[in-house]
Amino acid sequence: MPVRVVGNVCIDTTFRVDRFPQPGETLNARGHADGVGGKGANQAVAAARTGADVRFFAAVGTDLAAAFIREQLKGEFDLRHLSEKPLPSDRSTIVVNRDGENLIISGIDCAADFDPLRETGLLTVLAHGDILVMQGNLRSTVTDACLRAAKAAGATTILNPSPLSGEAVDLAAVDIVIVNQGEAFEITGDPDPERAARDLVRRGAKAAIVTLGAAGCLLLEDGAVDQIPAVKVVVVDTSGAGDVFCGCLAGYLTKGWTLAQSARAAVAAAALAVGRPGTLEACPSRAELTKIMN
Ligand code: ATP
Repeated sequence: MPVRVVGNVCIDTTFRVDRFPQPGETLNARGHADGVGGKGANQAVAAARTGADVRFFAAVGTDLAAAFIREQLKGEFDLRHLSEKPLPSDRSTIVVNRDGENLIISGIDCAADFDPLRETGLLTVLAHGDILVMQGNLRSTVTDACLRAAKAAGATTILNPSPLSGEAVDLAAVDIVIVNQGEAFEITGDPDPERAARDLVRRGAKAAIVTLGAAGCLLLEDGAVDQIPAVKVVVVDTSGAGDVFCGCLAGYLTKGWTLAQSARAAVAAAALAVGRPGTLEACPSRAELTKIMN
């Protein structure tokens, strides 16, 4: 039961500053570093580290950044489905101040132009029993078309529609929708996670998961609610916890676990990530994710 993650990949350049600059001001950072990010790549890495057979479908440019992305992801999963475009690779500049607050600007030319059904072998790869995982970074028409193609092929579909585009999220071809509490409210207008989850199911999803940060997550499946508590940890950096949760959930489902069992394991995996700095760097290792299964 392989996992197919379709989404975006980018270079994250993070600058650590004492304070945010004023308009027109230049500040020297206390340090900076490049890393690979993008919700698609983060979720694909997390899924692959559970030991699942993962293929990743995303677009990169033909620049040096693309070579960096390939180098960093090499060894995580098969890179043959990266589509190359005559564009700059996608890039986020992240400025983090002393209080841990951040400002992020993303250039998403490749993701905005990416059509996996036309540009990659997605349709020939998708098969009955596969798990397709998507996020909110591609055009919504493209996301809808991929989800529908996956359902037609007999795959299970997981949508984590983050970041929300402002357009209505189409859940008609979604088996499992995963949102955080803020997104659940933004989509449904209901601040109560259980009512929001029921609304997401009414809108077409077969099952809904609302992640609740330090409170774990709520799973709604077959009309029944399962409240899964978080694992208590000393929090270092929560960024990327949602991606570890989504990727690991998909990975654990491939082991034949139920959705509830996979969600419990994904909560344990996400707790490991919040105890460490960074996003992709905080993703648990293969050894750690395998240990959760035992
Ligand atoms: P992010 O945007 O920071 O990556 P998110 O907003 O998409 O995350 P959250 O609900 O904050 O999603 O977190 C996802 C999962 O990570 C939660 O369901 C929980 O299992 C775990 N998690 C998050 N914060 C904590 C915490 N403080 N302690 C333990 N586990 C946590």
